[in-house]
Formats: sequence, C-alpha cells, structure tokens
Amino acid sequence: VVPSPDVVQAAADRLSLHLGVVAAASFTGYIRALDAAVRNSPRPANQILSRPDLTEALSYSLRVAHGHTATLIQQAWQHGGGDPESIYRHAALSGAAGALNELRGQIDGIVREELGTPAPDPAHRIQQAVSDAVTKVVTRMRMSLESAAGASHTEAVIAEGRQLQQQGQHVMKVWRSRLSRRTCRWCRELDGVMIPLDDDFPHGDPVALEQSRTRRVATPAGVRRYRRSMGQPIILTHPPRVWLGRLPGPKRHPRCECWLELHILTEAGPPPAPLRSEEPAERMYVRASDIAELPEPQYMGLMAFLRAATHELGQVLRRLKGL
Ligand SMILES: [Zn+2]
Repeated sequence: VVPSPDVVQAAADRLSLHLGVVAAASFTGYIRALDAAVRNSPRPANQILSRPDLTEALSYSLRVAHGHTATLIQQAWQHGGGDPESIYRHAALSGAAGALNELRGQIDGIVREELGTPAPDPAHRIQQAVSDAVTKVVTRMRMSLESAAGASHTEAVIAEGRQLQQQGQHVMKVWRSRLSRRTCRWCRELDGVMIPLDDDFPHGDPVALEQSRTRRVATPAGVRRYRRSMGQPIILTHPPRVWLGRLPGPKRHPRCECWLELHILTEAGPPPAPLRSEEPAERMYVRASDIAELPEPQYMGLMAFLRAATHELGQVLRRLKGL
C-alpha cells in the first residue's frame, strides 16, 4: 500500500529537523577544539591543520555525522515506500556523503584565510566561518533527505501503477502541486499534467534568454503567471536541474511540495476480438461499424484515453508556444 503524500511529507519534515540537530551537534566538539587550538597557540595555519588531535577530531565528527545522515535518509526512504535497491536512494546517500566530504577542504580554506589575514581575533572569525560551513552542509544533507522521501514516494506510486497495468487497467500518472504561494513556476506548470507511467515529465533545457526582444507582461493571466505587474519585462529563469537527468515524478527541486497520483482511465473491457481470418492483417482504418460493435466499457476506456492524450498534447503545445 502506497503511503499518502502528506504522511511521507510529515515524516520527511520530522526526520529532516532531526538530521539538522544531530548532524550539527556532531561538529560541536571539533569546533571547540579548533577554537582552543587557535586561541592557545596561534601558529601558522599549516601547523594547526596538521595537528593529529584536530585531524582525528574532525574525522570523528565526519564519521558520526555521516552515520546519522545515512540512517535518517534510509528511514525517509522507507517512509516513502520506494524500492530499497533504487538508484535514487543510492543517489541521495552519495549526495549527502559528497556534501560532507567537501567540509574538510572548506575548513582548511577557512583556517588558512583567517590566520593569513592581519585582523584581530582570528579564533572568533574561524569559529563563525566553520559553524556557517557546517550549517550549509547540513542544509544540503537535509535537502537530500527530503528529496529522497519524495523520490521514494514517486517510485512507490509508479510501482503500484505498473501492478494495476498488469491487471489490465489503463493507468496514467498525474503531477500534483499544492499551488500555494511557495509553488514555483516550474511546478505550477506541471500541475495536472498527465503522462504514461514510464515517461518523464517535461523538465526543459535551460531557457535561452532572449536578448533581441523583451517580452512584457500584457495580460492579467501574465500578471499571475510571471508574478510581475502589467508592463514589466518577463524574466525567464533557468529551470532547476533534475536529479540524474530524469523526471519520472516529483520532486522537482529541494523544498518542492508536489506529489504523484495515478489516474485510472477505466476498467479494461474484454480483450480485443481477434482479427477475422478474411481481414487483411494490416488494415489501417477503422469503420464506423467497428466502433458501433465495441463493448461499452472498452469504448468508454478508449474515449477516456483519447481525452487524456489530447490533454497531454495540449500541454505540450502550450509549452512550445510559451503560453
Ligand atoms: Zn514542486
């Protein structure tokens, strides 16, 4: 059973907060030790950075933070209901680990820069800068966790759709967005878009910013779409890059509140009648009598499928025309 998107979101929020606290706390001991070292013996940066007690303290902090992060991301993934062997789960874990690994180099740079600057109280500035760097890395890891929860839920929804498809149902997937004030332009455009289960949602190449001609907001619809007032130039920003170059469903970007739903077009009718032997196998047209002979559920199913396909085509055309 696929969990509801609200439950997944609530679990991700809770785990993300928890990650923020424990991952940051993993570094307090190291930051204190570094501060004491700089205050007590303000030697050249090289000597501070190569002190075995400090390098060991940093390695320990990184290990502890990594352990917490991996555990909490796994939990977020489990809440989403996705396949534990998914590449998206591995991507979230390695994304978080990558963010952590950068911290060592960042701290190195901070200590060298601050000790090389002839300003008073380098210890205080180092402590501030290192704390800020930790906060930034922790924020990135929290985003990895939140993305993992969303990707896991999307996977679970698609897996459920495949099951229904195997049972003979016509299943499409639909992008849903909260459409709150926080919803970005990209998610707003995807809201309600319905596509086949195995397709990617349109995620767009970077927008070529048009230099030759500035388009301006000219209609009330434009005011809502671009959130600028009448007559202001329209600024198209680049869409956020998608995870692993694909967009099978939400999330579109960090802090995205969208989710995926299935749309079951109809129960499948009886299997299509085999071609009568006297009919040429490659008949390319459909006669009115063929349609009249269709069983009612199959006819309704085809009509619903056509409506969905037309809707999708309409969305594509609207995007192409920039509407
Ligand atoms: Zn979104």
